[in-house]
Amino acid sequence: MTAAHEVHVAHNYHPLPVTIATGDGAWVTDSEGKRYLDMLSGYSALNFGHLNSELVQAAQDQLARLTLTSRAFYNDQLGPFTDALAALCKKDLVLPMNTGAEAVETGIKVARAWGYRVKGIAADRAKIIVAEGNFHGRTTTIVGFSDDPQAHNDFGPYAPGFVAVPYGDADAIEAAIDDDTAAILIEPIQGEGGVVLPPEGYLRRIRELATARNVLFIADEIQSGLGRVGETFACDREGVVPDVYLLGKALGGGILPVSAVVANEDVLGVIRPGEHGSTFGGNPLAATVGLKVVELLQSGRFQERSRQLGEHLRAGLEKLDGITAIRSAGLWAGVDIDPSRGTGREVAERLLARGVLAKDTHGQTLRIAPPLVIRATELDWALEQLAQALTPSAR
Ligand SMILES: *Cc1c(COP(=O)(O)O)cnc(C)c1O
Repeated sequence: MTAAHEVHVAHNYHPLPVTIATGDGAWVTDSEGKRYLDMLSGYSALNFGHLNSELVQAAQDQLARLTLTSRAFYNDQLGPFTDALAALCKKDLVLPMNTGAEAVETGIKVARAWGYRVKGIAADRAKIIVAEGNFHGRTTTIVGFSDDPQAHNDFGPYAPGFVAVPYGDADAIEAAIDDDTAAILIEPIQGEGGVVLPPEGYLRRIRELATARNVLFIADEIQSGLGRVGETFACDREGVVPDVYLLGKALGGGILPVSAVVANEDVLGVIRPGEHGSTFGGNPLAATVGLKVVELLQSGRFQERSRQLGEHLRAGLEKLDGITAIRSAGLWAGVDIDPSRGTGREVAERLLARGVLAKDTHGQTLRIAPPLVIRATELDWALEQLAQALTPSAR
């Protein structure tokens, strides 16, 4: 197990020492031929597994036809993709972008334009309520309202117009809403924060508040959406439909970056030709893959797997020693490691030595998010490795 010497790669990541060369389903193989079970799935970008055959086939077929047109012209893939995605979300319109951060930025622009043009907020006063502990991406505007010092510090000056309240506290949102509030931007489950689930009823309260106070509810489902939690969207857990979905990660099928903002005409229709765009957003290759992702989700089988195997994962985790807290939804878990067993990083390194890829977040937390194609027996094997990795003497 040696890591590639990425001498000329900037130091913005601290990877675990494994150099992955090939992937297949829930498994990857390093450059020396050692196999690992992938329990991170590219932070949920690989919900359908590595080299999912249907997704790869769709991409390969499209690669032989057309890859990029720019939005200066129509292409024959964007219409079918957006029809299907709008239907999946039960909304009218889709604005395609590439990365998650771009979807969030687009959502912010939509909310502000809606605030001025529909709600009637005075110029440059629009406010967006966000949650403490959020992660919405890495642009300068987005890191401005992050309270994670690593994401935030030394990247100012920060864009105004955001108000942060404690996550999970709907009363705090209610108190923060005023006439200038355009939107509430929330992760239905905070992923990077360590798979933090809000109290039951939180999303419903946000929905009610947003409707009652004429504010947009923007759900950042970039990591929580598209099957991860045992439903199509994490908002489905409370039967809630936000005004705006922000989607990314798994929307690109683990093949290329595809993101989208999905909302109804009365909201997303505020953006007029020329006011927003992206050279690559909505390109035919991305649209083909995105359409296939939506088709995979339409069957419901990935959501069902995530629900059933998620219960299996939860039950297995509850039997382990050396864990101080488990937060989970579907095949997605944040596991807090008892400090006497080591840091999250140390446990991740021990798992690596045992053939399991997982990643720590915020010091003591291990994030577990296997591809939804993983089998119960593979999950059991990973849990056995975790049991061993939590026993420092057995490293
Ligand atoms: C990953 C993530 C983003 C940013 O996505 P990128 O594709 O890395 O820009 C935004 N919001 C949430 C909730 C995420 O998990």
